[in-house]
Amino acid sequence: MRKWNFCAGPAVISEHVLAEVKEELLEWGDSGMSIMEMSHRSSIYDEVATTAKQDFIDLLKIPDSHDVLFLQGGATQQFATVPMNFGHIKKKADYVLSGTWSKKAISEASKILEVNTIASSEDKNFSYAPDPKNWNLSEESAYVHYCPNETIQGVAIHNIPDLEKPLVADMSSVILSEPMDVSKFSLIYAGAQKNIGPAGLTMVIAEKSFMEADNPDLPNILRYSKHAESDSMLNTPPTFGWYMAGKVFKWIKKSGGLEFFKEQNHTKAQTLYTYIDNSSFYSNPVNIENRSIMNIPFILADKNLDSVFLKECEEEGLLNLKGHRSVGGMRASIYNAMPVEGVNQLVDFMKVFEAKHG
Ligand SMILES: *Cc1c(COP(=O)(O)O)cnc(C)c1O
Repeated sequence: MRKWNFCAGPAVISEHVLAEVKEELLEWGDSGMSIMEMSHRSSIYDEVATTAKQDFIDLLKIPDSHDVLFLQGGATQQFATVPMNFGHIKKKADYVLSGTWSKKAISEASKILEVNTIASSEDKNFSYAPDPKNWNLSEESAYVHYCPNETIQGVAIHNIPDLEKPLVADMSSVILSEPMDVSKFSLIYAGAQKNIGPAGLTMVIAEKSFMEADNPDLPNILRYSKHAESDSMLNTPPTFGWYMAGKVFKWIKKSGGLEFFKEQNHTKAQTLYTYIDNSSFYSNPVNIENRSIMNIPFILADKNLDSVFLKECEEEGLLNLKGHRSVGGMRASIYNAMPVEGVNQLVDFMKVFEAKHG
């Protein structure tokens, strides 16, 4: 029986999508084989891949100035390939430190170029995000990198900063959660396993003119422009993940697009935050304007009750609520595929638990 899965990633996938995949698993159309067994260069797969790409472009209204890549290696590989590709000229890049993932991005980039940490919220344990107004940009830097949604701390930078420099963003846990202006970014990357589909696929949206300036001394597999030239088929792409992402994009379109999910995601997040804020038993440490709509950490007044809480959650069919080991407490990840009903059931359970132990 399927239960409510609040995992931060790999995360919940819509049951409609899974049911369709199940239906098609043994034989795709009348091709005589599953999608997994097919050449990525076949005309059938080509159509699946092209349609998925186009649906993604439609959903995010990605302008012609930008291209979309379907890659492997996760967001973690992007931590390395971004500085490798774009740091070779100015040899310096600006990074914003707002949580665990941007910290990792900085650590990896530091092996390749000089990182200028232009703003940080580490002083208060990442319980807020540095306001773009106070980012102290370098005069000479190749790009500015930030993470709009820190998955572990549940900290978000909701407004896209207006900068004169190329802007690069790790959107792993927030992509497709609401409409956004892609034209403001030179490069966006996101691992698929949070809000898109199965792990193994990494989405990149990059400005074409930015990609053209990538580092020609790198092996092709590490160069954005080479992946773009070959329509993400420089080598065998993650074909099954790409196919499933396409299913998710169709499902998002049919559900009402990003406007629909924006509203639903805000409703879900509001439900949870309102309850937490009105309770003296649960609390969320994040500055109100920096609260994530995707990942909501919360702590119980008595830490000794953590394990009881988690055990009873499981009995109620509410899974994977344990916070990241680095911050403790609880965390509810409520991506697009988590219905309002799942969040309501979580809140109902929290009320009962509070009444019993509060
Ligand atoms: C999950 C996550 C990552 C790491 O992704 P991998 O695909 O495992 O490399 C990086 N950044 C953010 C914001 C994430 O949520």
